[in-house]
Amino acid sequence: MSQIFDDDVSRRRFIRNGTLLSSGLFGQINIPLIAQALNPNVSPIPRPSEVSFSSRFTNQPALPIAHQFGASRIDWTYSLDPAFLRSARLLGAQVIGGTINACMPDKVGGNTYKEARALRRDGTPVTAPWMAGEATPRYWGCANNPGYEDILLEAALAALNAGADYLQFDDAALSIPAVKWGACWCSYCRQKAVSQGYSLLNEMLAFQTKSTQEFISRFRVRLNRKAGRAVIMSSNNFEGDRRIPYNLFDFGMCEFSPKKLNADDIVSLYRSFESIGWYQSATLQTANPQINRAAIATIHASGGNCIVPWDVFLGVNQRYFGKQADYLPIYNMIRRSRDYLDYKRFSSVEPSDLLTNDTLDRLLAANIHVLIREDPKVFIIHMIPWTVSANLLPVSIAPKWAGNKLTKSTVNTNPAYVAAGGMSISRENWSILTLSKT
Ligand SMILES: [Zn+2]
Repeated sequence: MSQIFDDDVSRRRFIRNGTLLSSGLFGQINIPLIAQALNPNVSPIPRPSEVSFSSRFTNQPALPIAHQFGASRIDWTYSLDPAFLRSARLLGAQVIGGTINACMPDKVGGNTYKEARALRRDGTPVTAPWMAGEATPRYWGCANNPGYEDILLEAALAALNAGADYLQFDDAALSIPAVKWGACWCSYCRQKAVSQGYSLLNEMLAFQTKSTQEFISRFRVRLNRKAGRAVIMSSNNFEGDRRIPYNLFDFGMCEFSPKKLNADDIVSLYRSFESIGWYQSATLQTANPQINRAAIATIHASGGNCIVPWDVFLGVNQRYFGKQADYLPIYNMIRRSRDYLDYKRFSSVEPSDLLTNDTLDRLLAANIHVLIREDPKVFIIHMIPWTVSANLLPVSIAPKWAGNKLTKSTVNTNPAYVAAGGMSISRENWSILTLSKT
């Protein structure tokens, strides 16, 4: 009971603060306060032990599946249906991420895409190549047209009002990719270029890069003021891109192409993110369960998190719905592994410092990647099989130094293979060992 009481106190405090803000510092808030507010103790920025599920739209069958995965968050949804988002919360999602993008309709919930769009030199609007041929063309917005900023602001407030805790900006590069499609020569861009001394003919990319950077910064200030709080925002940064404008967000949702789905590339990317304090979520663009499982394990072990591969865009009219049977074991393990995933850092210690040469040879032969992270007390040794094979291959593991305590194997996608004091692992089986530092 006391837990419920505490939550009520928090909620009342939130509402009171919201009311104060609406008449004070930030001016008039013109949206009602969010009915299902974020628990103030939960950050919208993910943690590696979290299970993230995305339902792009109001899709009722998605919620029981998310629940089955133990999803603690729904990311990247365009749903503006408060009942749907509330249901997601009742089924365990503590965080909900709404979405805006570079081609929102003129009006919230509308089906026209004509106002404040990026234009070619002949005055025609542009669409993204991957959206070409749609029955109702969704024309791209212009970063320098104040009308598009207003459209985006209304869309963002509608998402927050429906129950989103934070916002994902899909295609946040806005006017930068539109340069390749011949934009933008609208009157706002022409005027601004003249006033800033840019030639649209020769310096379009530099001009639109600067314009997009200014747009995002300005938009975030306006949104925070309207919402009466600092709204956390993420963006999908392809393969971990950290250039403008992705560096203007609070965290990234990286789309990994198949060629980057290998242990070395993932680990080196996440090492670089850790060194600059950047949090990176991921989504995968392949339909291969074995590669996906290995990638999911490696990403979570490296300090990130990977959205469940369900309803994933693979190409025009091509979406992948991963089967529960293929992914439930790995997400169950992620949920059980909180103590071994959150608040750990990459270690400078190498596998050869901790494990015998025989062990390393056996791991290499089985294509099992060893990843070592640590906290002040223990080394966390992740063993992740990357081989595409259904055969089980137990591998015995031995620590290098008799003095090291190989603590009882902790968590494992297949507990049948765990043995106290040592362990064996299989090709299908992500395992975590801990090695005491004392
Ligand atoms: Zn323009």
